Amino acid sequence: MGLENETAETLEETYRMARDWNPDLANWAMYTPWPFSPLFQELRDKVETYDFETSNVVTPIIKPEAMDRAELLDRVMHNDRRFYMIKALFHSPWRGSGFRRKYLLGCLKAFLKAGFRRTFYDLGRVGYWRRQTRKTVDSGFDASRRIAPEQAAEWDAAADRTADYLLAHRLPRPAQWLLRALPARLAAPLLLRAIARNAWTFAGSGRVFVTPGPPAVIEIEANPLATAPCHFHLAVFTRLFRTLVHPQAEMRETLCCGSGAAACRFAISWSRR
Ligand SMILES: [Zn+2]
Repeated sequence: MGLENETAETLEETYRMARDWNPDLANWAMYTPWPFSPLFQELRDKVETYDFETSNVVTPIIKPEAMDRAELLDRVMHNDRRFYMIKALFHSPWRGSGFRRKYLLGCLKAFLKAGFRRTFYDLGRVGYWRRQTRKTVDSGFDASRRIAPEQAAEWDAAADRTADYLLAHRLPRPAQWLLRALPARLAAPLLLRAIARNAWTFAGSGRVFVTPGPPAVIEIEANPLATAPCHFHLAVFTRLFRTLVHPQAEMRETLCCGSGAAACRFAISWSRR
């Protein structure tokens, strides 16, 4: 439930379908794409919260165009209540006498207990009680969250290792002295060429193109490590340019495979010296 095109009508249709098929149990899961999966990349501008630590596949993180997330939760809960009310009265208690009946009654009891404790669907935490409270539901997600801090730290560490390796083993000392001595506009094309030669260290299977500019540009076609924005690549290139070309070199990613572009495109700028 809860894709971008979900409406009151489609939610009702889904409920009707569940009644028609009449399964023993129905789980009403929210559409929750995991970060960096292809589906997430496709829908990332519809995702309202990146606080995946609190996300649980039942509290909505996507806002459909036709309603807010609290209303979505309310309507899904409405479906759930109606479905299991009918099950409890007309279905589960009368399904034979063996294992199936015992199992279904066990499920009902568990649902009820979780319902009273408000642990079901994490409803207690988000403050959902009944229809009346749907305007005050607060999913409690951390709105400042963009990427997990651990993930960012890991990317930084990986970027440092890659830059260290390039500086220690792939760029001869005399070449580094020369780059530092040259004006930035002459050093940049030489460094770009060295970066292109060692593309495998940071682009894997992706193809790398460089433009000396200005503006100097590095492109990675089909970047296998795209994370939109590409934290790791920005850190590697920034470090190399600041060390060898200009201490105030700035890097911007203007296009990214992670948000559907054919290539990640990094533009490099520095003030004249
Ligand atoms: Zn990218």
